[in-house]
Amino acid sequence: MAEQLTPMQIAQSQLRAAANKLNLEDSVLEMLLEPQRVVCVRIPVKMDDGTTKVFNGYRSQHSTAIGPAKGGLRFHPGVNLDEVKALSFWMTFKCGVLGLPYGGGKGGIEVDPKKLSRGELERLSRGYVRALADVLGSNKDIPAPDVNTNNQVMSWMLDEYSVINRQTDFGMVTGKPILLGGSKGRNEATGRGAVVTLLEALTKLKMDIKGRTVAIQGFGNVGSVAADLLWELGAKIVAISDISGGIYNQDGIDIKALLEHTAQSEYVSGFAGAIQMPGDQVFELPVDIVIPAALENVLTEKNAPKVKAKIVLEIANGPTTPKADEIMAKNGVLVLPDILSNAGGVTVSYFEWVQNNYGYYWSEDEVNDRLTKKMQESFATVWDMMQENQVDMRTAAYMVSVQRISEAIKLRGIV
Ligand code: GLU
Repeated sequence: MAEQLTPMQIAQSQLRAAANKLNLEDSVLEMLLEPQRVVCVRIPVKMDDGTTKVFNGYRSQHSTAIGPAKGGLRFHPGVNLDEVKALSFWMTFKCGVLGLPYGGGKGGIEVDPKKLSRGELERLSRGYVRALADVLGSNKDIPAPDVNTNNQVMSWMLDEYSVINRQTDFGMVTGKPILLGGSKGRNEATGRGAVVTLLEALTKLKMDIKGRTVAIQGFGNVGSVAADLLWELGAKIVAISDISGGIYNQDGIDIKALLEHTAQSEYVSGFAGAIQMPGDQVFELPVDIVIPAALENVLTEKNAPKVKAKIVLEIANGPTTPKADEIMAKNGVLVLPDILSNAGGVTVSYFEWVQNNYGYYWSEDEVNDRLTKKMQESFATVWDMMQENQVDMRTAAYMVSVQRISEAIKLRGIV
């Protein structure tokens, strides 16, 4: 029978694999299998045509054992409670792998933001903060950009929160514009961190990045930055897909030219420097590296047997199902797990929050150097855990993280 797990079931199964290896106490596992707190809100928005629409909003705080909940806010028509819970779950373990002083949180609004005017989007963002102001804050829960949200949304949220509290709390959101307490390098951080992870893996496999062929699903905030950095390092990005379809060029897509194209027409389709291809074939191409950089649940038992790449670099959250993991491990595909490879974003969010607390701001080189170092150290810790325990890299990453979180839970006397 085909596997049909929800994102939350996928997340729980990943945790269980690590918990088994670690002989984790049942009480700690019980704490970590579900979020500590979930808040569901209805957000009424006055639309431009005079009517009022009501949107469903969510915030899930999976764990605050190590520190305030931390994680993005997504605007997407497919957002639902199960997905938000799973995304907050992954944030806990992501922050744990990197050793950041945060727990995990995530939020979402069920909306197609492309159908809203700028004014409607602003009212929706402010409405979200009004509905959740009690549970947000720089020492409680700190949102950041995620799918379809950006530094403008963060600015509105910062302002609304400041109006409510009659003072500006810069650290209550990250991913802000530089002028409002944002950090240099934050926009590119997830893509940059993923590339550092990939380079570390290539070194272990004694492979060079130059001339390596790459296929990417997703050319948004994060996928496009990763593509650009890889292109500059001499990799050949032969295929890219997004919701408009796929494009292919066996000699390598000119990423700078594609960025100019998407700046005009948003999607990759119609780019003159490549031929069109069906978007869903992007993972099955004969390339060295495939990169899911869009949404969850895209590498499944159906397409995993057809993956020919040596490396899967997970930039999306939760792109791979447990069955797909099993299949790829058997086929010798190295999967660089999301909670490590896409942690660059939250790492620079942490740097942003530190800079907000100090009121002193770093240069871009300083941010990038610290990010690179943190990603390299975390990669090495996870790699060693993998070697010592003969597990796949995802389980190893969870093991590193679960050890830290369970120790915090016990030190606090929660269980
Ligand atoms: N949304 C990003 C993620 O999934 C960043 C979260 C953050 O910076 O808090 O990791």
